[in-house]
Amino acid sequence: LFLEQPLGAGQGLDLSRDHAHYLFNVMRLGPGAAIAVFNGHDGAWLAEVVEAGKRGGRLQCQHQITPQRDPPDLWLIFAPIKKARTDFIVEKAAEMGAARILPVQTEFTNSDRIRQDRLQAHAVEAAEQCCGTFVPVVEDLQPLSRLLANWPEGRALIWADEGLAETAAPAPMPPAPAALLIGPEGGFSPSERDRLRALPMVHPISLGPRILRADTAAVAALTLWQSTAGDWA
Ligand code: SAM
Repeated sequence: LFLEQPLGAGQGLDLSRDHAHYLFNVMRLGPGAAIAVFNGHDGAWLAEVVEAGKRGGRLQCQHQITPQRDPPDLWLIFAPIKKARTDFIVEKAAEMGAARILPVQTEFTNSDRIRQDRLQAHAVEAAEQCCGTFVPVVEDLQPLSRLLANWPEGRALIWADEGLAETAAPAPMPPAPAALLIGPEGGFSPSERDRLRALPMVHPISLGPRILRADTAAVAALTLWQSTAGDWA
């Protein structure tokens, strides 16, 4: 369970109405039950239910069960697509250990709004489900051009583009700090491609000889990076 509260031995933790409903009605837990909690930076802790009410409850932290483990410094930058597929990308990016998730508007991006709070909640659920100790921050939508104009020094930008000449083997991945860039369903425009090609921090990559859907491409790129330059390498 993800709780934005300090964790430590003996620490009391307050439960919101939603958490109380989930733990006591859905999971049918009661006083004395033990659950794992994390807050994104203090590792995972075992906590005991000490009060179970309809509108809230209280836990008490016992001991740390997993030390804090942050993922490598990898961002996933993607252009939002249909709602369910955007949810999928955020969920899978959190599972695959992206440290930060940045939705961007590109020339061919269909949506000009996202529900950032909803996407952040998906990232929390994904971290809870894969027993992580870290939750990636999901940023609000911003233009790709603005992100590129303020690009942080020293961070490689790995640009996945299906228009690149196919290589026999996947290109080597630059190490962290890095960012993966996945385009929308319509791909990148000719002027975006020109701009990206001219930037010194850009490493263009192919994800193979088939055109993948944007959500598949995001998962494929994350897997490729984690397995060659990330914490699975
Ligand atoms: N422009 C294409 C079109 O309209 O036919 C398709 C774009 S593709 C559905 C969406 C994004 O996934 C691309 O912008 C790219 O970032 C990524 N992508 C898909 N297949 C890829 C591949 N084989 N290599 C590299 N990137 C790929």
